[in-house]
Amino acid sequence: APAPPPARHLFSDPAEIDALRRNLLAWYDRCKRDLPWRALAATEPDADRRGYAVWVSEIMLQQTQVATVIDYYTRWMQKWPTLQALAQASLEEVNELWAGLGYYSRGKRLQEAARKVVSELAGRMPRTAEDLRELLPGVGRYTAGAIASISYGQATGVVDGNVIRVLCRLRCIGADSSSPAVIDRLWDMANVLVDRSRPGDFNQALMELGATVCVPKSPLCRECPVKQHCQAWRRKLFGKALPVPDVEDCGVGDCPLCPPATEPWDSSLGVTNFPRKAAKKPPRALRTATCVLERRGCHGAPEYLIVQRPSSGLLAGLWEFPSLPLAQGLQEEKEREELADHLQAWMGQPVAATGLQFIGEVTHIFSHIHQTYVVYSLHLDGDVTLDPALSPSRWVTQDEFQASAVSTAMKKV
Ligand code: SF4
Repeated sequence: APAPPPARHLFSDPAEIDALRRNLLAWYDRCKRDLPWRALAATEPDADRRGYAVWVSEIMLQQTQVATVIDYYTRWMQKWPTLQALAQASLEEVNELWAGLGYYSRGKRLQEAARKVVSELAGRMPRTAEDLRELLPGVGRYTAGAIASISYGQATGVVDGNVIRVLCRLRCIGADSSSPAVIDRLWDMANVLVDRSRPGDFNQALMELGATVCVPKSPLCRECPVKQHCQAWRRKLFGKALPVPDVEDCGVGDCPLCPPATEPWDSSLGVTNFPRKAAKKPPRALRTATCVLERRGCHGAPEYLIVQRPSSGLLAGLWEFPSLPLAQGLQEEKEREELADHLQAWMGQPVAATGLQFIGEVTHIFSHIHQTYVVYSLHLDGDVTLDPALSPSRWVTQDEFQASAVSTAMKKV
């Protein structure tokens, strides 16, 4: 077993833990944002519906800003107010509502898990973090802890990006915060700190503090309700010049939680010395040729061809203009020829590369991919018979396109 970390990185004094809980909860009661899932979790008498609402909000909030989620969450709960309603939805409907929220597999997994609760668990949500994690696909440690504490009052901690930042600052943890050793310590700490009588509020308060006060850049330390418990703040105030042993690094480079000896405390950064992360791998650069094929519909309005992506992988099951990944370093002429060949396969008739009109380039960042779409257009005069053996495809008007399950990147195109 790894050696226990030095005491300065832990919360071990019961009086301090009590005071921190009190201060944080009092601040939360005064300052918390009104969010629709909070209102529902606080007032809904049906435990399964409470758990469902928190689950939906937590999945949507992964990698997405609160302000964006509110509208999606509201429409989702209007359309599928219960697990049973969601279990009966089609994946196409889920993708349509999710369009623009990103990380599309989240919606798909949520729906698969809802089906499982209805068909295998008699519609009853598991009530503990351990069961939620074990029984529901796509529910990880964080989501399970959030649902169990907020909906069912289980005294279990949560660790998300906001909590990582707050805890690393509270306890001057400067080792790589994405490393399993540090993450394990943070979970231990979250479980020690969580308030036994108001666990859901405590967890939300800690996350809220990270989202609104202990923000990544320029945290509002002077307004912070837990600043008297914060070692990073003390260290910033007292600096290295004063001999305050408990706010210095632990020793001579062998502490698993202090900043590495090669990157010591930088006084110009203050509390933002923490947390620290190993450098991310740069995103992969990809180029894709895409063609907006346009024809006159029966009422004279333009229609566009969209085709469905495969049911697994990036943007699974979403619709897009016919697109073709390109090798790096191709000449423009060659790109055009390859796209023309690709379109020919769709349309079953020759497409002249010279007929493709270059429109421009669109870039879009997916989590780990820097994608450039090279956009062409082609106007068709006659009718086209699409090959039914290929992926599903359909002609849509501009309004239909906007309402379809298409990604934000395709809307940019
Ligand atoms: Fe974060 Fe500053 Fe509060 Fe410490 S005092 S928890 S660094 S906002």
